[in-house]
Amino acid sequence: TTTPSASADPAAGAAVKAADRAHVFHSWSAQGLIDPLPIAGAEGSYFWDYDGNRYLDFSSQLVNTNIGHQHPKVVAAIQEQAAKLCTIAPGFAVDVRSEAARLVAERTPGDLDKIFFTNGGAEAVENAVRMARLHTGRAKVLSAYRSYHGATATAINLTGDPRRWPSDTASAGVIHFWGPFLYRSAFHAENEQQECERALAHLEQTIAFEGPQSIAAIILETVPGTAGIMVPPAGYLAGVREICDRFGIVFILDEVMAGFGRTGAWFAADHFGVTPDLLTFAKGVNSGYVPLGGVAISAEIAATFDQRPYPGGLTYSGHPLACASAVATMNAMAEERIVENAAEIGETVIGPALHEIAARHPSVGEVRGMGVFWALDLVKNKETREPLVPYNASGAANAPMAEFAAACKSGGLWPFVNMNRTHVVPACTVTEAEAKEGLAALDQALTAADAHT
Ligand code: PMP
Repeated sequence: TTTPSASADPAAGAAVKAADRAHVFHSWSAQGLIDPLPIAGAEGSYFWDYDGNRYLDFSSQLVNTNIGHQHPKVVAAIQEQAAKLCTIAPGFAVDVRSEAARLVAERTPGDLDKIFFTNGGAEAVENAVRMARLHTGRAKVLSAYRSYHGATATAINLTGDPRRWPSDTASAGVIHFWGPFLYRSAFHAENEQQECERALAHLEQTIAFEGPQSIAAIILETVPGTAGIMVPPAGYLAGVREICDRFGIVFILDEVMAGFGRTGAWFAADHFGVTPDLLTFAKGVNSGYVPLGGVAISAEIAATFDQRPYPGGLTYSGHPLACASAVATMNAMAEERIVENAAEIGETVIGPALHEIAARHPSVGEVRGMGVFWALDLVKNKETREPLVPYNASGAANAPMAEFAAACKSGGLWPFVNMNRTHVVPACTVTEAEAKEGLAALDQALTAADAHT
């Protein structure tokens, strides 16, 4: 691998940026207002630019590089598969696809034993919703405010954050409800148990007024990620499972971000002892080395499509290079105890350090999380819990978070920042030394946020 100092070449970086600006149209961006950082290389928990700056990646890119960058076993598996068979249509039986499906089925909870592969998370959500609608013969889908499910048609409509707004008009059949989140409770609850009971009662009322016979599915992120890493109270997911069973509603858990080690378990659902009917995954299944996602399907829903065709497919469903990288990733995670590492680092290093940091910084209102999946909720005032920046702030209104992010970067830390939150989501392979290095940089950078309290 090229080291950061060996690759320091500002002129090459400038050329990469100029080429990008000429023809690349970027996600979620006003094209004329962005300044993408040219990247020269990456390894493990780090990536670096052409100016010789190395960043400790506390965002895991988009919370997907669970095994870090350039894992040698995964790189080798992709190379070997490329030499053997680069592509084949989804209708054929191929060793590497079957093995990827077997390994996913083995790790997912309960009887989620049939795997439909997609190219990413949004397509997984689209297909899970379609399966639920066809299985039940019903149309409506309930999803939570404070959620993210992807940027394709149904997935963005299901999403409960402002990125939904410009695409909201096609949201026929999508109903939003409030999930549990004690720190900013929609139910004026005072403790986790109240929050849980009231959130379940609210969901039941929503179902009663929408008409249970019209509802195909409830979709939830097991631990909502992008919206703030809100670990649900004990009993909530089991309560939703029971409600779904009572009304014949399909329960979809979206584990695109929370799955494959992120929470210190293979799936976040494992912490809560709940098995959904459909489970969507992507990101950590192969750390994003080749685009891959999918839906793990229960025996009952799979049976719906046993004698009747499933009306959905993708040219690259179960792509050999993606499946080879997934097999190598899942095997490496088991061999190298990567899920266990995520659990241990979270419990013994990151969690305690974040609580200690929160006690010293007036801008840190709450610490939430598990494994390598943590959020700091930044506030103007710890008493009132007023967010450090207004909801969906941009431009000047977002200056405090922009200053905080800049302080992280000048300290060699690449943060994940969304609204008034920063998330601590390093690779599941992060070492104790790396975690401590990043936490020290975070601690420093928070003084920039404190200045706005
Ligand atoms: N669901 C969840 C929970 C996610 O976090 C994401 C991506 N952040 C998606 C779905 C969409 O995945 P993708 O970007 O791969 O389409």
